[in-house]
Amino acid sequence: MNEPKKLFVKSFGCQMNVYDSRRMADTMAPRGYVETAAADDADLVILNTCHIREKAAEKVYSELGRVRRLKETAASEGRRLVVAVAGCVAQAEGEEIIRRAPSVDLVFGPQSYHRLPELLARAARGEKPVDTEFPLDDKFDHLAAPTPSAIRTRGVSAFVTVQEGCDKFCTFCVVPYTRGAEVSRPANKIIAEVERLAAAGVREITLIGQNVNAYHGAGTNGRSWSLARLLERVSDIEGIERLRYTTSHPRDMDDELIAAHRDLPKLMPQLHLPVQSGSDRILAAMNRRHTRADYLDVVARLRAARPDLALTSDFIVGFPGESEADFAETLNLLDAIGFCGAFSFKYSPRPGTPGAELADQIDDEMKSERLQRLQTAIDRGQQAFNRSCLGRTFDVLFEKPGRHAGQLVGRSPYLQPVQATAPSSMIGEIATVTITEVASNSLFGALAHAPVREPALLAAGA
Ligand code: SF4
Repeated sequence: MNEPKKLFVKSFGCQMNVYDSRRMADTMAPRGYVETAAADDADLVILNTCHIREKAAEKVYSELGRVRRLKETAASEGRRLVVAVAGCVAQAEGEEIIRRAPSVDLVFGPQSYHRLPELLARAARGEKPVDTEFPLDDKFDHLAAPTPSAIRTRGVSAFVTVQEGCDKFCTFCVVPYTRGAEVSRPANKIIAEVERLAAAGVREITLIGQNVNAYHGAGTNGRSWSLARLLERVSDIEGIERLRYTTSHPRDMDDELIAAHRDLPKLMPQLHLPVQSGSDRILAAMNRRHTRADYLDVVARLRAARPDLALTSDFIVGFPGESEADFAETLNLLDAIGFCGAFSFKYSPRPGTPGAELADQIDDEMKSERLQRLQTAIDRGQQAFNRSCLGRTFDVLFEKPGRHAGQLVGRSPYLQPVQATAPSSMIGEIATVTITEVASNSLFGALAHAPVREPALLAAGA
C-alpha cells in the first residue's frame, strides 16, 4: 500500500476560508492525502489567503519566502513539495504570484478549488496552472464530503457555507471583486451537509456567507427560500442544538429573519451585525446603503423580538473624509447600542476599490489615535457585558479540554469561552453552568447540575 501523502493547509482570514480549507482537505482525502499540522514534512502546502487586511498580498509573498525554503529543504532530501496559493489574494493577483514567487506550482481562486485534483495533475506534468475563473458549474457539486472521522476531529461546532459573494459594493471592500456576485446554495444540499455533520456528532452549526442574510437559495419546495426559512428547516435536524449565522448586512435583516430570533429557540441570542461607522456622511461615502437611524431601528426590532440578544459589530476608522465629528458619532453609536464586542480596523485603501480613489485620505497617525479610542470603548463594553454574566446560569456547549487538567472549555450562548471542571466524556454535551468568575474575556463556571443530553457520538468516538 502507498504511504499517504501529507497536506498542510494554512488558512488566513475569515471563517469562510477555514471552511474552504477543510473542503480542500476533504477533496484530497480520497486521493490519499492526510492533513498534517507541520508544513516541513508536507508533500503539498496550500496557502488559503485573505485579501481583507492591509498589505495582504505582501504578507503572502513573505510567507511564500518561508515556503520556498521548505521546498528547497525537501528537494535536498529527495522529496517534492508542491506549493499552491488559493483564496482571495490568488484571485486578485493570479499570474503575478507565479511571476514573483517561481516556487509556487499552482494558483487558484475561491471558486475553483473543486478543480484542485486536476490542477495538481497539471502541475505534476510540469505546468504552472492558474485558475481564477468564476465557473458556471457549482463547485460544491464536485467536492468530496468529509468523512465522519474528519468531522469528529474538527469538533462539535461547524461552519457551513450557504452563500458566497456580494452585490453590495461597499467602497472599501474587495469581496465583490474577489468572491464575485451573490450566489446561494440550494437548501437541499445544505440540509444534507448539516445532517451528515449532525450524524457525526456536531451540535452547533454556523451558517456562513459574505452576506449571509441575503441568502435566497432554491428551497426544497422549488421556491426561493430566505435565510429565516433555511434556519427554521435546519433547526429541525436531529442532533443540532444550536444555530448561528454570520456575516449579515443590516439592510438584509428583514421581518422574517427578525421573527426567527423570537421563534427559533435553537438560534443563539448573539448576532454579529457590522455597522462600520456611526456617521451618515461616512456611511454614504462607504456606500453602505443604510443610515445610522436604519441600524438603530433594526437593532430595536431585533431586541423587541429577542430581548436577551447581544450584538457584536465591525468598525472602520479613518475612512477618507472622516472628521472628528464623524468619529464622535461612531463613539456615540457604540454607547447607544451597547455592543458586547466588536472588531475594529484602520481604513486602508484596497487597489481597485472606489475608496482607494477618494481624496481626503486620513493620515495614519490620526487613524491610529482614533482606533485606540474606539478600541478602549469597545473593551469597556465587552468587559461590562462579561461582568454582567457573573452569577448567571448558561447552557454551555463543551468543545475541548480546558487549560488545566480536569477542565473543559465550551461556549456560552453569547460565544464567550467558559472554563469549567467537567469530565472529558462531556465534550459535545450542553450542560448548565453557573458563572463563578470573570477574568478579562474568559468566564469560569461550575456545573449547575447533571448534563442535559446523553453523551454525544463525538465523545463516544462513534
Ligand atoms: S456587504 Fe460586506 S462583503 Fe459586501 S461589499 Fe460590503 S463589506 Fe464587502
